[in-house]
Amino acid sequence: MSISIVKNFPLDHLNTFNISANAKFFYEFKTLESLKEILNHNLLKTEKSFVLGGGSNILISNDFDGIVLKNSIKGIHITKENKNHTEVEVGSGENWHEFVLWCVKKNLSGVENLALIPGSVGASPIQNIGAYGCEAKDTIKKVEFIDLESKTIKELTNSECDFSYRSSIFKKDLKEKCIITKVTFLLNKKPINNTSYGAIASELTALKIQASPQSICNAVINIRSRKLPDPQKIGNSGSFFKNPIISNKKLKKIKVEYPEIVNYKYSQTYSKIAAGWLIEMAGWKGYRKNDFGVYDKQALVLVNYGNASGNDIIELSKKIQRSVHKKFDIKIYPEVNII
Ligand SMILES: Cc1cc2nc3c(=O)[nH]c(=O)nc-3n(C[C@H](O)[C@H](O)[C@H](O)COP(=O)(O)OP(=O)(O)OC[C@H]3O[C@@H](n4cnc5c(N)ncnc54)[C@H](O)[C@@H]3O)c2cc1C
Repeated sequence: MSISIVKNFPLDHLNTFNISANAKFFYEFKTLESLKEILNHNLLKTEKSFVLGGGSNILISNDFDGIVLKNSIKGIHITKENKNHTEVEVGSGENWHEFVLWCVKKNLSGVENLALIPGSVGASPIQNIGAYGCEAKDTIKKVEFIDLESKTIKELTNSECDFSYRSSIFKKDLKEKCIITKVTFLLNKKPINNTSYGAIASELTALKIQASPQSICNAVINIRSRKLPDPQKIGNSGSFFKNPIISNKKLKKIKVEYPEIVNYKYSQTYSKIAAGWLIEMAGWKGYRKNDFGVYDKQALVLVNYGNASGNDIIELSKKIQRSVHKKFDIKIYPEVNII
């Protein structure tokens, strides 16, 4: 079978920042077999490659001088069931939000708080996506991937994935060394109904409905639609920076001057600080220059209003990092992958 590699392929509609850029080569794989085939192609011996999911956690700084491998491996299958749990295998190219809706429709609980997060299922373990008191690690049982060096299929269990806040082994030891092909989730038949975080409980009260996977999913969709810019209208990658983690000792010192600092317990000795609050306090919320800026409803989100370049956003992010560091002596780092 011949492989259809496209030359000079526009990535404009394949990244949620809506940055205009081309890939020197582009290939879309829909099956494990076609992925294996391209990995053995001669082009891969000379060109660098980049795996693309939904493009919702990347910032493209330039045309990509190599081959972009677009993941479209589909399939959602129930593989095991018992009284309490259902095990579901999901192709890594499935859309995350569609998968959440599939679970909710089947009354399977565990991912409803993660509704409306853009991107692919395959990327969900990479930064251990999280929102509204839930993380992908809470339901992931195992992750299947192709090891790019040996070109063999391997599997890691939940504990082997070394999940932590917005991180996993795929962001560390296995970064750029594998392509995730399948994720297996263990979902609950009994609803978890985690409404403790953010505005979920008040949203349910306002709608006069009881907690269930379906109602929580709807509430999260409502809240997120109000708070975050729709990438189809304003280019963005969600939270641009990770929330920094600092020692409680340092937090105590900062609290003398800023008692209202937004923080959450991370461990006995460390606290997580809301990066959005730091950026807002440093005066960036609603900032705009030409076509790039900081979203006016959430300072953690950097935006492209039209024709911003990747470098415009990178320069802005560096300025924000410097000013937050100067004001609070706290370093913030991008969550977004800059390519
Ligand atoms: C409006 C908006 C809101 C968001 N809200 C949240 C949120 O609440 N919580 C949260 O955690 N994130 C959030 N994000 C970030 C983003 O949605 C997630 O990080 C998502 O998991 C990225 O998936 P993707 O398929 O788009 O990955 P991409 O952007 O395509 O890729 C991201 C990185 O993963 C690598 N990668 C992708 N797929 C694979 C694979 N199969 N195998 C190996 N490597 C791969 C890529 O090479 C790249 O380095 C938000 C983004 C947007 C735009």
